[in-house]
Amino acid sequence: METETIDCQGCGVRIQTTAKDQPGFTPVFSLQKEVVLCQRCFRLKHYNEIQDVSITDDDFLKMVSSIRDTSGLVVHIVDIFDVDGSLIHGLPRLVGEKSILLVGNKMDLLPKSVNTRKLLQWLRSQAKQAGIKVADACLISSAKGHGIAELSEKIEEQYRQGDNVYIVGTTNVGKSTFINRLIKQSTGFSEVITTSYFPGTTLGFIEIPLDDRSALIDTPGIVNKQQMAHYISGEDLKLITPNKEIKPRIYQLNDGQTLFFGGLARLDFIKGDKQSFVCYFSNQLPIHRTKLEKADDLFANHCGELLIPPTEASIDQIPPMISDTFRIKEGKYDIVFPGLGWVSILGEGATVTAHRPKGVAVSIRQSFN
Ligand code: GDP
Repeated sequence: METETIDCQGCGVRIQTTAKDQPGFTPVFSLQKEVVLCQRCFRLKHYNEIQDVSITDDDFLKMVSSIRDTSGLVVHIVDIFDVDGSLIHGLPRLVGEKSILLVGNKMDLLPKSVNTRKLLQWLRSQAKQAGIKVADACLISSAKGHGIAELSEKIEEQYRQGDNVYIVGTTNVGKSTFINRLIKQSTGFSEVITTSYFPGTTLGFIEIPLDDRSALIDTPGIVNKQQMAHYISGEDLKLITPNKEIKPRIYQLNDGQTLFFGGLARLDFIKGDKQSFVCYFSNQLPIHRTKLEKADDLFANHCGELLIPPTEASIDQIPPMISDTFRIKEGKYDIVFPGLGWVSILGEGATVTAHRPKGVAVSIRQSFN
């Protein structure tokens, strides 16, 4: 006998009523509701609370690679605040021979002073390094709607040529927010997909018809273990996630001084002339300046207390700190802590050491200010 299948109208996962800890679970009585949600989306929607389900990275990858043999356009959304954490390395291998449009989301968080041309150039170069050849790149804010109309037009007029559009991205880049906005824009219908602070909440595919023959398809968010979001609690994530335009915080530092970004990252100014360190982090993230010679003790005794986040409750979740030293030449460079923010060093050259939790990459780039 054939049983009817139902997909969750939140995240698109196949609904099932038997395994509580698996994706798509919902109690039997919920099947009678007009809008059927999996328990996970239900809790998220009504209680703003996330539930863990057991789905592995391999499953995520398998689901995304299932589009390999279909035709269509791929729109790869990245978080401009966490490009290292949100670019999907080797994407063409996963999705097959398709044009890839690279979209940097969360533009609204950047100060107006940022040079968007340089930012786009850098985005493209990062994509290239990650093995992704892009047909085009653009910047948007899904939250505010900036650049969405232009992007829709590009997709429609230039790139999709009547074919399907696959939206791909790692978790937390704003994929659901983006699609919700597209839906609102085109149909006035809102909130069919869940959005949340937590990585990994979008499970399954969701299809939104574009015309009789083609659809916009939301693919599951690929979990990238390098994302800072995986190492911290929900409360901490709220603190480090900027929610409005970042106000750069400027420190004039002498060598032998250190900056702490909460207790999650630290930058030591080892050697160089006095110069400006311009910090681009969530406005709520406390930055603490101290002497280098005192920094280790301060971290050992006050992380989770003076240096927050993490809090005392979440401190045990954070992997041990590791560090890398960079010798910066003359010019403007940024030390990037993916998922947290970056520090622009605008001087005559400097030696700095960047500390962050093991597993989170740190990198250096030419500044785009
Ligand atoms: P998904 O996991 O990729 O589907 O990401 P979500 O759409 O759930 O978004 C993750 C988080 O980023 C949520 O807290 C959103 O409110 C936030 N977000 C998404 N787009 C934007 C944006 O353009 N600007 C800002 N400031 N936040 C955004």
